[in-house]
Amino acid sequence: MNNRQLFLSHLAQTTDFPLMIEIEKAEGVFMFGPEGKKYLDLISGIGVSNVGHRHPKVLEAIQEQLDKYLHLMVYGEYVQSPQVKLAKALCDTLPSHLDNVYLVNSGSEAVEGALKLAKRFTNRREIISCINAYHGSSHGSLSVGGNEIFKRAYRPLLPGVNHIVYGAYSHLEQITENTAAVIIETIQGEAGIKVACKEYFQALRKRCDATGTLLILDEIQAGFGRTGKFWAFEHFDIVPDILVCAKGMGGGMPIGAFIANKTVMGAFKNNPLLGHITTFGGHPVSAAASLATIQVIQEEKLLEQVEAKADLFKKLLVHPMIKGIRNKGLMMAVEFESFEVLKPIIDRAIEKGVITDWFLFCDDSMRIAPPLIISEVEIEQACGLILEAIG
Ligand code: PMP
Repeated sequence: MNNRQLFLSHLAQTTDFPLMIEIEKAEGVFMFGPEGKKYLDLISGIGVSNVGHRHPKVLEAIQEQLDKYLHLMVYGEYVQSPQVKLAKALCDTLPSHLDNVYLVNSGSEAVEGALKLAKRFTNRREIISCINAYHGSSHGSLSVGGNEIFKRAYRPLLPGVNHIVYGAYSHLEQITENTAAVIIETIQGEAGIKVACKEYFQALRKRCDATGTLLILDEIQAGFGRTGKFWAFEHFDIVPDILVCAKGMGGGMPIGAFIANKTVMGAFKNNPLLGHITTFGGHPVSAAASLATIQVIQEEKLLEQVEAKADLFKKLLVHPMIKGIRNKGLMMAVEFESFEVLKPIIDRAIEKGVITDWFLFCDDSMRIAPPLIISEVEIEQACGLILEAIG
């Protein structure tokens, strides 16, 4: 059997539309299939390869760590240089009160940890999240997700979760003194790139402060430079109580984190048993890759280029079939009439060598989230091929 046959026979599938693209190598913004077929990657493994595939500095950091040690001990027991250096580097990107980092393996795990921490710190049981939010696939993170179709089959889920509309001021009144936390994506990703305004986030922050509710910002998709700021909340002049991140954090390696104030995080210690544990969280190889990723974003001044690159996409992607473009930096959604119109365009673009896709909860829009290192020439090539695919 060839790889595609093995894929369909033995690899669990969770969609009727697997893209089924076979890749043998990836480098920078490009991926290469068998017989050298070359693709321009416009989705970065869903917002992961922000510094491009196999960035040399990331590879070097991984290699250096491979020569030292792999797994040593469950998280937080031994002093491991890649973990502590990464924690410090993360805190240096953040407002000073966010000074304590819990490293995990993925976005869903970061969300789980953040929710547990909020309950533990506030001693409250209710959580508020947003309709159409995506926070992960584990039971807890699914419970705070905001799409009923995804949740239906798994009920009963976490009790005490209520949903509000992202961006709706009047719903903020539902945040009360019983609310442990509000969890919200700073930019809603899987809803198809929805961006609330600064005034909304400031009102949300104010309501959380007034009720003693912790504000958890999910920047798993929007963080690590994707929107042109290192963290998307910087656009809105607010700060979270707990920040969750993953995806772009590892430069292609699996890692995530939830970050809070040392006092808040200390709630996990006030426990006769262990507060929250993980075997592999903050794996040293992933942590080394993550530290290198932060350095690359800073040294290559990637943040400064995001807005101009996004503007170039918007300037070039003009066509009567394109109904509009929503974006915050290089987190973009190109809107079409329907999925039926969009799907063949995506398929033709892939044939032409440009990879895009759609969103979990918004299938009439094309996802564009390229590696931040993409050049102007590559953007021009990509947009030219997308326009050809539209026809
Ligand atoms: N939150 C957001 C905003 C996400 O986009 C995702 C992944 N799409 C997650 C959480 C879950 O992350 P993971 O798949 O790493 O568990």
